[in-house]
Amino acid sequence: MLTSMIPLMKKAREEGYCVPAMSASDETTARIIIQAAEKKNAPVILICMKNNARDIVYFGRVVSDLAAHATVPVALCLDHSSSFEDAIWGIKAGFTDIMVDRSMLSYEENVAQVSELVKIAHAVGVGVEAELGHVGVADNYDVDGNTGLTDPEEAVRFVKETNVDALAVAVGTAHGAYKGLPNIRFELLKELREKVEVPLVMHGGSGSGDENLTKSAQLGICKLNIANDLYRGAIEELEAHDLTGSGAYGLFKHLYNGYEKVALHYFDVCLATNKNDIVKNVSQREINLNPELKEV
Ligand SMILES: [Zn+2]
Repeated sequence: MLTSMIPLMKKAREEGYCVPAMSASDETTARIIIQAAEKKNAPVILICMKNNARDIVYFGRVVSDLAAHATVPVALCLDHSSSFEDAIWGIKAGFTDIMVDRSMLSYEENVAQVSELVKIAHAVGVGVEAELGHVGVADNYDVDGNTGLTDPEEAVRFVKETNVDALAVAVGTAHGAYKGLPNIRFELLKELREKVEVPLVMHGGSGSGDENLTKSAQLGICKLNIANDLYRGAIEELEAHDLTGSGAYGLFKHLYNGYEKVALHYFDVCLATNKNDIVKNVSQREINLNPELKEV
């Protein structure tokens, strides 16, 4: 079933777990993740940046079809759309949700650009995630640094002013691979969970430590973005096999297995295993037929 990620996250928030959001950019990676979710009997969010898919509209069609036949709820979120055009492409491609990342801009500019896209997305039943504070890149990240952390009061104001559905917060994680474990500010996360009305998102889950991530899920993170660890899993599986000579025939099998192993692992880390309950949602097709159903 294809569904918006927002009702999945709201349910996760109430029950103290988190929905894994895993990077996919083609049919193979989408299939691996959806099948992993089915094996774990869990909801899942697929995340994809516009330029990571060769043809975003075709990719949207493939995922919609795979999700329609899945036994678990599947959401498709356009990750880190950084321009107005990219966000609109996501909607056109049938993504159930879009992330509008303007965290590198000033607060006022972030509010202005997110609000504009929230209005458009909501008109056609698409959910919107924004980011406040800034989640940086791990390769040059100071794990003890205090730069870019989300301010709770500002976050409350931001949600009110933009009408956004979910908020990515900066509490100490970063994108990419760390040189050690990040210093996650659990007290800050707790405060954000208490004050902010919408579900919270953590980016940069890869390499953050299983215990840290499970604790984050329990404290209020409802969507955990994973990319680097999935790619790393595929690379390690390939490296563990002899691919010379006829070993080359195993290329896709090993890549597939490595990616899947990591995907399966994160359902448990997020406490999402066996959380496959039916979530009430309205499909895009129903909205097209009856625009009054447009509420996300
Ligand atoms: Zn991210």
